[in-house]
Amino acid sequence: MEPIKNYVHGQWVDSKSTEILDVVNPATTEVIGRVPLSTPDEVRTAIQAAKDAFPEWRETPPVNRARYMFALKDLMEDQFEELSSIIVEEEGKCIDEARGEVRRGIEQVEVAAGIPSLMMGYNLEDIAVGIDEDCVRQPLGVFCAIPPFNFPLMVSLWFWPYALACGNTYIVKPSEQAPLSQEKLFELIDEVDLPESVINLVNGAKGVVDTLLESPDVQGVSFVGSTPVGKYIYQKAAEHGKRAQCQTGAKNFLVVMPDADLDRTVPALITSFYGCAGERCLSGAVLLAVGDVYEPLRDKFVDAASRLKVGYGLDETVQMGPVVSKRHMERVLGYIEKGVGEGAKLLLDGRGIKVEEYPKGYFIGPTVFDEVTPEMTIANEEIFGPVVSIVQAEDLDEAIDIIHANPYGNASSIFTSSGKWAREFKYRVRCGNIGINIGIVAPMAFFPFSGSKDSFFGDLHGQGRDAIDFFTEKKVVISRWF
Ligand code: NAD
Repeated sequence: MEPIKNYVHGQWVDSKSTEILDVVNPATTEVIGRVPLSTPDEVRTAIQAAKDAFPEWRETPPVNRARYMFALKDLMEDQFEELSSIIVEEEGKCIDEARGEVRRGIEQVEVAAGIPSLMMGYNLEDIAVGIDEDCVRQPLGVFCAIPPFNFPLMVSLWFWPYALACGNTYIVKPSEQAPLSQEKLFELIDEVDLPESVINLVNGAKGVVDTLLESPDVQGVSFVGSTPVGKYIYQKAAEHGKRAQCQTGAKNFLVVMPDADLDRTVPALITSFYGCAGERCLSGAVLLAVGDVYEPLRDKFVDAASRLKVGYGLDETVQMGPVVSKRHMERVLGYIEKGVGEGAKLLLDGRGIKVEEYPKGYFIGPTVFDEVTPEMTIANEEIFGPVVSIVQAEDLDEAIDIIHANPYGNASSIFTSSGKWAREFKYRVRCGNIGINIGIVAPMAFFPFSGSKDSFFGDLHGQGRDAIDFFTEKKVVISRWF
């Protein structure tokens, strides 16, 4: 099987690297691709190409730059099912979840197509008699994206459509665990016929990232992934004078109040905790039961979780797929061991689940721990798998204290029928994305994808107006004519 090519100078090129990794379908464990860890010279060639393409691209009118977005959107719609299937094969999520990912990706391209309006500056006549002041936005040059494995198609689209629409040029380095949907996306980009080198694809891992970060010709980096790597990238980017936005790990708390409508709440909780096998930065991780909702909530939740159909995501009837890799499966199983060791009560054990047609797949069944205390490792660390910890709180104040004791601040939700509790929750909880009777708080493309504390390093988030700020520099012009 030939390794995936890079896309530089508007051409597909073979990497000369001798380091090549297998891309494995986590349900079937078949090798479905091979990905090169490109060399520093190959990265530098891509940076130079993007740098050379910048002056002309910058001068291309925004309305013309937007037209490439319309063209790409059409191609993505045509290839919607193909893109979705590739995501299932490389990442493991269910086909409907993959369709959702492609839809969310297309929405980014749609929003970026509004660049002539989005990129406008502002002005004021007569800041003094006969003197006017204008603020314009200008692109900066070469940017790059370092996405994670779990939304292999969508995450790079949080960034580059806006960057290009603003007049910058770009390099994408896909996750080496799931690079195939990016390869397919670049086939579509190739058909759009953008000017040469405006966008480039360089496969690899840490080595590629380090070369990008060390280059003086790269203006900024958008990273999405784990917290330790995000912190490293944020520091290194600052050291090398770059802009950086790093969206990182999560431990999301879902609070259920005694007045919640459980028949509607439990299905939302199940999708939040077990969708994408728990491998979403917006997945629920801790179920915080407040007061006397605990017993009925626990029973209904465990009953619903135990009925989920686990299997290969290309089967439309399957509700939960495998986790991404053997290594990640072992990590998640390690957390289950740890929970048992720390004295939590295992109500539903997903270990040893068998999926008949795919006996070697990296499957873990829905898992529920009860009697978890906030100090336990399973209540604190990001597991990124289908493992739920039920923690009890006496009242909303205690629930919020528990949320605040955790270092992460990505998402948190409350389920209640009281406007007072809901308002209290959204006002006080320090988390970037807040849900009220919503289990997966995924911001639309025209809002920022937020995050705080150890879940985000930077000040401008991905998507929305933040993206336009991140990918442009504001220049002020003060003029007087004699
Ligand atoms: P990861 O940190 O292992 O990898 C992310 C990217 O960084 C990949 O492209 C990888 O090649 C690169 N990388 C890995 N190690 C590196 C190193 N030492 N130096 C430089 N680059 C390195 O993350 P992952 O396992 O692919 O993704 C899962 C993580 O992503 C979870 O923590 C999840 O919460 C997080 N995530 C966050 C968001 C968000 O918006 N906050 C969204 C999706 C995923």
